[in-house]
Amino acid sequence: MSLLKVQELGKSFGGVKAVDGISFELAPGELLALIGPNGAGKSTTFNMVNGQLKADRGSIQLDGQELVGRKPREIWRMGVGRTFQIAETFASLTVVENVQMALLSHDHQLFSTWRRAADHKRDEALALLDQVGMKSQGDRPCSVLAYGDVKRVELAIAMANAPKLLLMDEPTAGMAPKERNSLMALTKQLVIDRGMAVLFTEHSMDVVFAYADRMIVLARGRLIAQGKPLEIRDHPKVQEVYFGSGKTFEKIAEKAAAVNAAVGEAA
Ligand code: ADP
Ligand code: MG
Repeated sequence: MSLLKVQELGKSFGGVKAVDGISFELAPGELLALIGPNGAGKSTTFNMVNGQLKADRGSIQLDGQELVGRKPREIWRMGVGRTFQIAETFASLTVVENVQMALLSHDHQLFSTWRRAADHKRDEALALLDQVGMKSQGDRPCSVLAYGDVKRVELAIAMANAPKLLLMDEPTAGMAPKERNSLMALTKQLVIDRGMAVLFTEHSMDVVFAYADRMIVLARGRLIAQGKPLEIRDHPKVQEVYFGSGKTFEKIAEKAAAVNAAVGEAA
């Protein structure tokens, strides 16, 4: 049974077909990587799923309910979460306060309520921080955290809404390889523990091969391949359009195997 069902989805900007009739499905508890060169249509796809952009055509169903035409807030309430960068205005708040705010937002409560009750939802927030390994830093302001730790807190904030599906557009951008692996290992753990589905984009093929259950490959708005990482690796069309040469690809596959060995097979 699929959680997300995308059919013939399309979006153009002027004459550019950013997304040109793509179809794919996502099961609960699945970590699905969306890859492709710059301009392939990955972010446009994400933004149609989360409601930031309205599709020109096609359908996006979550648990059988149509998402196309709904507002972002409504889609979020239906269980589609996404990671947000912690806004500058919130960076002065502590780690745990940021998660508390997210929990209150999920419960439809007002900011003013929170101000009067600073302890509200604190335990729940700390439990979420525990899941991302950030409980001990709960009382530090977000502004003093290391970059990789900020990303963990952003993940905890996204979890506050208990999403069925989490969208992560380039979650590891700007991270060192070690941090990337650590964030994706954590994401994989959350997928396993919560049965949550994740759709993510990622430039590092090491990361994709090490963590994705399945991949879909876009090029110029079209879906050119989908399958398990090993199937995609051997797909001639993918090698040609996306990777350029098989040689580079071999290197990537070797690296991925090393990462896999280091991390150990999750689940
Ligand atoms: P990716 O995330 O895979 O790099 P995008 O989805 O951002 O690709 O972009 C796909 C195509 O759509 C590109 O040609 C891009 O220039 C174009 N595009 C994306 N967003 C807009 C926009 N808001 N206005 C005009 N063109 C856009
Ligand atoms: Mg993008």
